[in-house]
Amino acid sequence: MSEVEVGSNFVREIVEEDLRNGKNGGRVATRFPPEPNGYLHIGHAKSICLNFGLAQTFGGTCNLRFDDTDPVKEDTEYCDSIKQDVEWLGFHWNNLYFASDYFDQLYEWAKELIRRGKAYVCELTPEQIREYRGNFYTPGKPSPWRDRPAEESLDLLERMKNGEFKEGERVLRAKIDMNHKNMNMRDPLIYRIKHVVHHRTGDKWCIYPMYDFAHGLSDAIEGITHSVCTLEFEDHRILYDWFIDALELDRHPQQIEFAKLNLSYTVMSKRRLLSLVRDGIVSGWDDPRMPTISGMRRRGFPPESIRAFCERIGVNKRDSMVDIALLEHCVRERLNDIAPRVMGVTKPLKVVIENYPEGKVEWFDAPWHPTDESMGSRKLPFSRELWIDSSDFMEDAPKKFFRLTPGREVRLRYAYFLKCVGVDKDENGNILQVRCTYDPESLGGKSPDGRKVKVTIHWLSAAHAVPAELRMVDKLFTLEDPMSTEDGDFKSCLNPNSMEILQGFIEPTIATQTPGYRCQFERMGYFCIDPDSTPEHPVFNRTVTMRDDWMQIQKKDA
Ligand code: ATP
Ligand code: MG
Repeated sequence: MSEVEVGSNFVREIVEEDLRNGKNGGRVATRFPPEPNGYLHIGHAKSICLNFGLAQTFGGTCNLRFDDTDPVKEDTEYCDSIKQDVEWLGFHWNNLYFASDYFDQLYEWAKELIRRGKAYVCELTPEQIREYRGNFYTPGKPSPWRDRPAEESLDLLERMKNGEFKEGERVLRAKIDMNHKNMNMRDPLIYRIKHVVHHRTGDKWCIYPMYDFAHGLSDAIEGITHSVCTLEFEDHRILYDWFIDALELDRHPQQIEFAKLNLSYTVMSKRRLLSLVRDGIVSGWDDPRMPTISGMRRRGFPPESIRAFCERIGVNKRDSMVDIALLEHCVRERLNDIAPRVMGVTKPLKVVIENYPEGKVEWFDAPWHPTDESMGSRKLPFSRELWIDSSDFMEDAPKKFFRLTPGREVRLRYAYFLKCVGVDKDENGNILQVRCTYDPESLGGKSPDGRKVKVTIHWLSAAHAVPAELRMVDKLFTLEDPMSTEDGDFKSCLNPNSMEILQGFIEPTIATQTPGYRCQFERMGYFCIDPDSTPEHPVFNRTVTMRDDWMQIQKKDA
């Protein structure tokens, strides 16, 4: 592959600087902490490449930690898919952890905060808590339970844990500052009651720790040095630090925030992706139109392309929208190097070569790749009746149409010159087949007498071609920013043609390949065999078209 361009990455620079200064004893430890409440998307890939990349670059470690502190939305199915996606992207975690592994330790620390006078059990209702908290302009009001004795809070916390209260009747709160200009510091919640079964701890707990409490302390337990997260947690860093300081832990990870990836023509949040799945708008999380890692894998994106994309967009602190054309460009760049070139016809049109002997079959040697000779070649059958793509024929063609039209000659790839001599139609005027002649002297597509043809088209021997379902994957949304619709509903700009299903033909040599096989149908685009495929009924997804919009954008900008 052409050399990967590298965008700037300020987190990498911070880590370098820390290493130069001997911070953390020269250790680099990161983690990727997904909540198992959905499948990973391309935004998560950015975080994965960043966290695992830091560990690789600096000889450090990276953990995969499931942030499973909110039992309501979480599921084991999601955990399995996340592990699969991280590995498919080419990364290996040093340790696999669950935040729920730390529930006992977190509970001990909660009691320690109470003993240190830094936390209390509060009996205000959720509405009162909100009201007492005030807002940016008005100071908060202390809870009447704020200064209750530690013994009382310890006893109540124990009883919360034992299930004596209903949800919302008691919470544990940190005692910080009800007038703090950062709202997160106005006595934030530490534990709330939830009478729900957790996918790993079962019914052992009916109180669950809040994200801000659990996250930083989980980092500390694992000895994380650089805790990388997205910008929306910038305002939470002060609280992240407060918990670690309040408990005087000897390991203090550094939280660093970076800008999320936003990609044009798609939505990214798991909540919205889930609603596309639930509403049946897509066939599942791994529908090839989804911006999920599993969707992209199914569509045929190579993992190297996703990694190259993440390198190129870089890591910074400014929110922006990345053009999906860049991602597709990275996909083409890789597939151009590795994908075998094959014959596939998406909209078949029959050609009969009138002067080619009936029953005769020739086998033409066709290399799998134009430059990579190590890929070898295969034999392509040629016979009297062919399939060509209907876009390569026009009966009443304008002057600039150089493909097949009555009276014009084209080259058949690897084969002969072909000339159109007539068209057969049914009673309604629909074209049934195109009648042609070939020039036996032009074998191998070489001109016998110096006469030129402008265009080479692809073809399949009709007797040998295998029918295949071709799923022409396209953008799922018609707007660059689907969140900017007039009615505010991203589902009102769904692309009605996001997956046209065509019945085409493919060359026999690839019909027996298995799901995941990637190839280029010459002139038609890159395709990948779908898991729905069977030897009797091959199914291909179009990964990307041949047209590289990114190159056009670069040219325009130059
Ligand atoms: P979503 O809103 O899509 O559900 P999330 O941030 O809630 O995303 P998590 O499972 O909590 O999802 O994310 C795991 C990690 O991936 C976090 O560190 C998060 O910051 C990061 N991440 C999530 N979305 C993006 C994105 N679009 N770009 C970069 N990193 C992201
Ligand atoms: Mg989330």
